[in-house]
Parts: sequence; C-alpha cells; structure tokens
Amino acid sequence: MGRFSVIVPAAGSGKRFRGKQNKILERIKGQPVFLRALEAFTSRDDVAQTLIVVSADQMDEMKSRYGGHLGFMGVQIVEGGETRPQSVRNALGHVTEDADFVAVHDAVRPCLSPLWVDAVFAEAQKSGAAILAYPLHGTLKKVTECNVIDETLAREGLWEAQTPQVFRKDILVKAYEGDLNDVTDDAQLVEAIGHPVSVVMGDPRNIKITTKADLALAAAVISTLPKPKPKGPDHPFAEAQW
Ligand code: C5P
Repeated sequence: MGRFSVIVPAAGSGKRFRGKQNKILERIKGQPVFLRALEAFTSRDDVAQTLIVVSADQMDEMKSRYGGHLGFMGVQIVEGGETRPQSVRNALGHVTEDADFVAVHDAVRPCLSPLWVDAVFAEAQKSGAAILAYPLHGTLKKVTECNVIDETLAREGLWEAQTPQVFRKDILVKAYEGDLNDVTDDAQLVEAIGHPVSVVMGDPRNIKITTKADLALAAAVISTLPKPKPKGPDHPFAEAQW
C-alpha cells in the first residue's frame, strides 16, 4: 500500500462568494466546509499526513477556533501564498519523507465520497498521476463582455477537472519547480513536464463551493454520496445492527 500525504489548499480569499466570512468556514448541515473536505482523508489507513494550507490573514482565527479539533484529527496547519499554486508549493515543503504520493484536494470541495478517493488513489498508484474529472454535457458558448454569444464551442473530449489530484511525490515536486503563472490546477504543471495524467471518472456531486447557491446544493447532495459496502463477516462490527 502506497503512503499518501494530502494537501488541502484553503488559503483563498473567496471574493466571488461575497460572504461575511470566508467560504471555507461556512457550514453545511452544521459542519464547516473545510472540515468536511479534510474528513474524506483523515480516517484513511493509507494517509500518512494531512496538511491544511491557510492564509497568513486567517492563521490566528483558524488556530484559535479549530486548532484543537485539527490537532485531534492529526491535521497540520501550514501557511499559504498569494495564489493557489504558491500555496501548494509552500505545503510541498512540509510533506513528510514517508509519503510516496501527494494528493491535493481543494478545501472548497466538501462533497467527496470515499469511493471516489479510493478510485483516484488506485489509479495514481498505477500510472503515477491521476485526477478526478467529469465530462462536460452542456452546450458551451463563448460570450462577449456585453453578454452576446461570440461562438459555440465543440464539447467533444472536454472534461472539467476536479480534485483530488494525486501524483507520485517526485513527479509533483519536479512539476512545482516550473513557472506557476496562469496555473489553475496541479495536473497542468505535471502535463507541462511531459508526464501523462490519467483521468478517473468523477461525479457531478463533487462540487466546488464558489457562490452561496453552491452551499444549498452541497447540503442537498451530501447525504446521497455513495458509501463503501460494509466490511465482510470477519469485521468486528459486521453483525451489529445500527
Ligand atoms: O481560487 P480557487 O477557487 O481556484 O481556489 C481553489 C482552492 O485553492 C480553495 O480551496 C482556496 O482556498 C485555495 N487557495 C489557496 N491559496 C490561494 C488561493 C486559493 O490555498 N492563494
């Protein structure tokens, strides 16, 4: 079994959200968005380390409000940078020697099934680099600044990248030595060094919280996420009736 270090970037300012507080602190059915994103990893046997990347501005609040809880979950808090790739690069400097793979998962994706994590972790162990993504099904319009259609784009072969994005550690470290300008995900940097990145079928419920409407959507889908099958008869709780 490979050992995974998980980086959860949470250092964005979330300007598009227009909320009173950062969107990572908003609650979905009582639990903050970033804690839901972290929990997809902290109970896994194959995860050796989980890092949350927080902005310098939010560091004090994060430590005072959630430091105890995060410590209990075994999550380390590290400081982010000006942009997402800078935040991930900072966190890479804290990845443990023990890790064979690094997974990056946005703190603003709280609706993650353990089965999807299993699938992308397994593919990364085969190919060295794998991401969750989902094919585009709508009709794509390029629109001018005056809200007029400029062009209809072909959607064949187009997928929307999601997270987790998972890489052999040496590949991701090498990729992050490159230019970080105009980079919006980790796979883009790995593509740039010429390493193929496999795509694992994701799910439309793995939404990214960007606006307030996304919070309502997340609350609606969270209880529908696929769960792992109960363990076999040798499992100590197999006979238990809950
Ligand atoms: O900005 P974007 O929506 O792409 O952010 C995706 C994730 O990256 C969010 O979880 C956000 O908190 C994080 N981020 C970061 N450091 C930044 C900007 C964004 O960790 N400077």
